[in-house]
Amino acid sequence: MRIKFWGVRGSTPTPERRNSRYGGNTPCVEVRLANGTLIIFDCGTGLRALGNSLLRELGQQPIHAYLFLTHFHWDHIQGIPFFAPFYQSGNVFLFHSVMRKGADLQAAIEDQMASPYFPVGMDAMASTRHFFDLDEAPINVNGAIISSVPLNHPQGCVAYRVSADGGTFVLATDTEPGSQPHDEALRSFVRDADVMVYDAQFTPEQLRGEKKGWGHSSWLEGVNISSECGVKQLILFHHDPNSEDAFVDGLVQRAQQTFPNVIGAAEGLEMEVTEGAHPRNRPPASLERRGERRYHVELPVKLAWKSPDGGIFQYEGTSKDISASGIQITAPLDAPENGPLEVEMILPDEITHQGDVAVHFTAMPLRREFTNEAAGDPSRALRISARRSPQEEKSVGKVAAFASRKK
Ligand SMILES: [Zn+2]
Ligand SMILES: [Zn+2]
Repeated sequence: MRIKFWGVRGSTPTPERRNSRYGGNTPCVEVRLANGTLIIFDCGTGLRALGNSLLRELGQQPIHAYLFLTHFHWDHIQGIPFFAPFYQSGNVFLFHSVMRKGADLQAAIEDQMASPYFPVGMDAMASTRHFFDLDEAPINVNGAIISSVPLNHPQGCVAYRVSADGGTFVLATDTEPGSQPHDEALRSFVRDADVMVYDAQFTPEQLRGEKKGWGHSSWLEGVNISSECGVKQLILFHHDPNSEDAFVDGLVQRAQQTFPNVIGAAEGLEMEVTEGAHPRNRPPASLERRGERRYHVELPVKLAWKSPDGGIFQYEGTSKDISASGIQITAPLDAPENGPLEVEMILPDEITHQGDVAVHFTAMPLRREFTNEAAGDPSRALRISARRSPQEEKSVGKVAAFASRKK
């Protein structure tokens, strides 16, 4: 996946020359998956330029994007009224936030445009918008697994973790260290991330003194978390409005003395979040492992399974496709939803010229759908996608003693 920063400034926009290298727009980070899916984290003033860029890139093509908000402080939503694609019909946007606990997500976004704060309401926007309030369970967005964890920030905030295309990216902004449960939860949440974007608004000295309790962090805590938790690349983010470019440079340099892989987030910075993720951080296993070859082969298969009362059922079906770790087969309606299937796949003599050759394995059903391709043949009413067990599990009686057909 690719990430791009459209806004990196905390609290309020700072369109000043002394800030121009890192940039003055408030938080907005674009994530583009390898399959083209567009995900946007936070809608600060950086969102406006992202909108214009999307219109240039996509022309008249409809725009479909997933938006995730960390929280609703102004600097994270104030780009919404100026995002041109919202005003075009045919565009679809899915807003997500985490556990508003009854507060209305849609109202939290729309009320900033209520009279007398803005000349038009959100109903002037012709695009289609949907609002989803998530709990902390991970969700799958076109192959990206996105999860969240609460942060220590006034009125609440969440960090997001995105695992996609073999890489892992964490956005943890608007967070203050010092609350033990939050500190621990964030540490396990970011473990082994390839890239962590982290709130470094204040200096460590400010954080111990006058800025304690303001809900923000420093490069020092970012460095500590990164080195403790195996984060590979740290990006300092949410720069203070009063931190001019040279000052941010100084913070980055101080951080680099203890953790070399640190940079400061800057508007326009773009990077590929790639490989190197620890295996346990990969998205939950799907049917096939990444890059695995899938063969479309229709071959007769024999299926057997044990019913709960111990009876053994046998059917004949057809394979649809197969890979090193998965198989798709037709099966009758009463095939088990969760239990193991014994599968015997027959490579006929016409192919092998060595007689029929049987291949045995065990498969765990993952997904079932109804087929209509074999109308009138109830033994093929379902199409089952199953994970092939890496090793032969306890056999249901060696495919219930299907005789080997080897000649
Ligand atoms: Zn903020
Ligand atoms: Zn905030």
